[in-house]
Order: sequence, then structure tokens, then C-alpha cells
Amino acid sequence: MTETDAVRLTRAHIESKFPKTCSACGRVFATLADYLRQTRHVGQPVAYDAEVHDWDHREPLGTMSLANCVCGTTMAIDSEGMPLRTFARLMMWARRVSRQRHVSMRELLASIRRRIDEQVLSERDGGEDRGRRDEQIRFHRRARQAGGRT
Ligand SMILES: [Zn+2]
Repeated sequence: MTETDAVRLTRAHIESKFPKTCSACGRVFATLADYLRQTRHVGQPVAYDAEVHDWDHREPLGTMSLANCVCGTTMAIDSEGMPLRTFARLMMWARRVSRQRHVSMRELLASIRRRIDEQVLSERDGGEDRGRRDEQIRFHRRARQAGGRT
């Protein structure tokens, strides 16, 4: 597994969590890009298994990344729902690389999260804005059609 694989697998898992709703204010984050633009990360991601010396591959505790919603409530994105095999592979990779680079697991996960954030936000023009432009075009078309009928 390479870092690119780790970023891709982690991102795919995170994106499977959307749309996501804040349980406190009901705000709906349609996509990960929406979420990243409107929330603020709280601290570094936590890998609970990394803090346990001899972690159980069959029942991992998982990882969690926290962010504050605009209403101030802390929301979490965790590894729940990720296939165990994928999770174990990612954890093995992360442990190896954190040792090689002499960084903590939290620092390593934070750097992966940064890469995912950068990827997602840099795609904004291709995704979100195109959607918005299409919506504007449809709106103008409807307005023209409405105008033609009167
Ligand atoms: Zn909220």
C-alpha cells in the first residue's frame, strides 16, 4: 500500500458518510466538500488502536476525526462501517510509515486528512460550481419559457 492508496481508501470511506446531518441544529452537509467548507477540524484525528500496544485486528476500536459544526456542536467522522480487512491494512500501513517518518500516528493521520481535504476542496470548481451553473442555466431557461407564455 502506498500513501496514495491510503488517501484513496480513506477518502472513499469518509465520502460514504455523506450526506451527513448535525444532530443538534439539523444542518445537512450534502458532500464532504460542503462539510469541509462549513466545519472546523478539532484537534488531530485519533487512532484508538494505535494507543493500545497490542490491538485486536478482529475488533478494532477504530479512528475518529472531530469537527465543529457552525452551531458549535462537535461532529465525528469515524472508521465505523469500513471493512475490517481494509481497516487493518490501513492501520498496518500507518504504523509502519509513522515509524519510518518518526512521526506519531496522530500526526500521520493529520497529514492524510490534510491531503484528502486539499484534494476535495481543489475539485470544487469541477463539481459544486458546475452544479450551481447548471442550476442557474435551468433557472434562466424556466424564466424565458415563463416569459414566452405571457
Ligand atoms: Zn449543527
